[in-house]
Amino acid sequence: MSDNKAEKQENSPKAKSVSSEQSSTGQGLGKMKDPYANLVPPKNKPRTPKPHCAITIAVSSRCLFNMVKERKIYQEEGLERYVKYQQEHENEPLLKGPAFQFVKALENVNGRLRELYPDSDEIFDIVLMTNNHAQVGVRLINSINHYELLIERFCMTGGNSPIGYLTAYLTNLYLSADSEKVQEAIEAGIAAATMFQTKKNQELSDDQLRVAFDGDAVLFSDESEQIVKAHGLDTFFEHEQKYENKPLAQGPLKGFLEALGKLQRKFYAKDLRLSCPIRTYLVTARSAASSGARVLKTLRSWGLEIDEALFLAGAPKGPLLEKIRPHIFFDDQMFHIKGAQELGTIAAHVPYGIGQKYNKSTPIAETPTKQK
Ligand SMILES: [Mg+2]
Repeated sequence: MSDNKAEKQENSPKAKSVSSEQSSTGQGLGKMKDPYANLVPPKNKPRTPKPHCAITIAVSSRCLFNMVKERKIYQEEGLERYVKYQQEHENEPLLKGPAFQFVKALENVNGRLRELYPDSDEIFDIVLMTNNHAQVGVRLINSINHYELLIERFCMTGGNSPIGYLTAYLTNLYLSADSEKVQEAIEAGIAAATMFQTKKNQELSDDQLRVAFDGDAVLFSDESEQIVKAHGLDTFFEHEQKYENKPLAQGPLKGFLEALGKLQRKFYAKDLRLSCPIRTYLVTARSAASSGARVLKTLRSWGLEIDEALFLAGAPKGPLLEKIRPHIFFDDQMFHIKGAQELGTIAAHVPYGIGQKYNKSTPIAETPTKQK
């Protein structure tokens, strides 16, 4: 982007896109004052990267912020009362939501990348996706400025499906509190996960982004899990050993791991492997001995590294995640999501694969005798 263009973008208020939304929703709000009069643009704002270079993370407003109280007003008292409430509280920052620390960590990585590669657009670009009313957009912008988040792109979908926007923004990861939209994104081939408001969250690393992934039906396809469901664990172990050298097909989050790897290599190129501000973890219920090799060989065949691979052999994931303290942990099974959340881990559900058909889906687990 030329300096000129960057300057232009800096001067044009984000409010512009918000106000176009305002006319399209056509909600009557009574007396209107200039809703953008109190907006103060953040100082020293870096330029917005080009979408095809950047790793684009689309986050919904209910993931970035805790809007439980506000949503209750909307559901119980209706849209007009909700918008009025948001307007009355627009100078009061929203509380932090489940994706807040993740977004903050992405921005810290961006800060390091900008120091090392001042002219590169290969950084994270965060897009706020919201179907909120334009007047609520003011509170969102105020909250973003309050926390000094660097979110330039707003996408106000006005209740429409976000898929078209996600595709247009070349989205690498979409996080939303709305499981139906996440499902739709996954079906459209976009890496996506549902986030939940949790009661207690751990304090997380400020200088290192930590991302933990489940294996089957997250980084990898659910082909092996289908064997478990159809034929049981013994057949699964035999199958995985037989096909140890056949890479697994890719799962919905593979592309995001790849994107993280691309940024990690930029630090390695500057000899900063040991202090790399991105760290990735595979946290799988598989066991190393009987079904782990295929997973590691698959990653190798993709040319992807993972910093730590943890094979739990059916043991619960929560206690280990509590030690890792990831900014986000992706899993396809609610059983693991809940276990992680109970111990304070921010977990995101990837609605993909055969496990979704089972209400009480059984994770791939091994009997104790199978452990090394
Ligand atoms: Mg899984």
